Amino acid sequence: MPKPTINICWIRRDLRLHDHHALHRALQANRPVLIVFIFDPHILSQLSDKKDRRVTFIHHTLSQLQRKLFALGSTLFTVYATPLQAFQQLVEKYDIENVFINHDYEPYAIARDEQIKDFLASKNIGFHTFKDQVIFEKSEVVKSDGTPYTVFTPYSRRWKARYFSQSNQHYNSEDQLVNLLQMVPIPLINLEEIGFEEATLPPLLPLLSRELIEGYQHTRDLPSTEGTSRVGVYLRFGLMSVRELVRLAKQHSEAWLNELIWREFFMMILYHFPRVTDQSFKIQYDRILWRNDEEEFEMWCKGQTGYPIVDAGMRQLNETGWMHNRVRMIVASFLVKHLLIDWRWGEAYFAEKLLDYDLASNNGNWQWAAGGGCDAAPYFRIFNPWTQAKKFDPQEAYVKKWVKEYPQAYAFPMVDHDFARKRALEIYKKALI
Ligand code: FAD
Repeated sequence: MPKPTINICWIRRDLRLHDHHALHRALQANRPVLIVFIFDPHILSQLSDKKDRRVTFIHHTLSQLQRKLFALGSTLFTVYATPLQAFQQLVEKYDIENVFINHDYEPYAIARDEQIKDFLASKNIGFHTFKDQVIFEKSEVVKSDGTPYTVFTPYSRRWKARYFSQSNQHYNSEDQLVNLLQMVPIPLINLEEIGFEEATLPPLLPLLSRELIEGYQHTRDLPSTEGTSRVGVYLRFGLMSVRELVRLAKQHSEAWLNELIWREFFMMILYHFPRVTDQSFKIQYDRILWRNDEEEFEMWCKGQTGYPIVDAGMRQLNETGWMHNRVRMIVASFLVKHLLIDWRWGEAYFAEKLLDYDLASNNGNWQWAAGGGCDAAPYFRIFNPWTQAKKFDPQEAYVKKWVKEYPQAYAFPMVDHDFARKRALEIYKKALI
């Protein structure tokens, strides 16, 4: 039997069928399209918890996609293999003319995509790549001399000027799904086959009411209220299109739009300065003599520091895989300044736990907290967890929700704030002056 001639759309962090750039292009290319998802052992083997919430979330999402594709007479093709092995299998089964993907800006993903591009070229298969997960990528928003911005405010100004001068983009993939490859359903690989188990997911629905977005600037800093959109995980895995969200932001809230621009800013930084994955953006910050006390790190991870707002945040993270942004800033500052523990430890812990974990945003925000990031807070600005709590959780509703023993049976602070502040200033100064 001759092999069917097809095009492939390889989905990765863009798990949806609507407003999907690569899928839109694939469906226009005059060959039936097969949608492929690869469970990559290189990524999965780095996850120590076999009940990883992200893997369950991805699996649920793929099941939903699979159901939609079955209803359209097509199927999702899932493989558990390295991307190279997966494409070696696919070329055995199909006569592939072209492969379509959306860009990914992480160093591993860039190297992976280069390898697949070379392999496909050796088989005379076209490889087409598109911008999808951001409005502006790579060097689209740069300074007049062509170099990347490293400070947010001028970057966001240029970003907005460009965005407001262009028409809204939408890639109409959903209306072209008739061009999908028609075939018998192939069952989805199950979690056990890739070495994982089903994790319990917290309620995850995004909160995108007009009321919330319009009031965002007033509610965003109050961790006890439902005052932020919760779209993080949906953006991370591409269940939502950033173009749709930015349109909504443009209509209803500049403050929320700025947050979406921070996301792109950090992706742009990671793309231009991949060294930030293990180095401080300002390299003199790598001279800081961290204390790196393992027991203290454990106490921080478990939410047993004796600082109620810090402990509430860490427990929210451990129990749900999400933490409110204001509290992320407080716990991060506490780890690097009060405990003098290397920001990379905290970054790694968040990477393990956060459902919305994203290398660029996590790294950028941790570097910001430690002071050595590209547009970071000055090192001598040290959050006081007591005053932060008073200001942003005045009724202690957030603390009481997550720290059940508070205040009756609650621990003493593991370190005195004034002492820790002075110590941090001395150690930072020694490294930087
Ligand atoms: P909203 O407040 O409703 O914001 C909407 C979206 O804008 C977010 O979903 C996110 O995509 C983007 N955004 C908001 N704030 C930021 C920010 N400071 N930096 C970059 N993008 C932002 N965000 C991640 O997506 N992944 C991470 O791994 C991550 N790690 C962080 C680590 C630390 C130490 C800190 C301080 C922040 C981190 N953030 C991270 C940023 C922010 O905390 C989350 O994006 C936000 O809390 C997610 O909740 P939300 O979807 O309700 O956001």
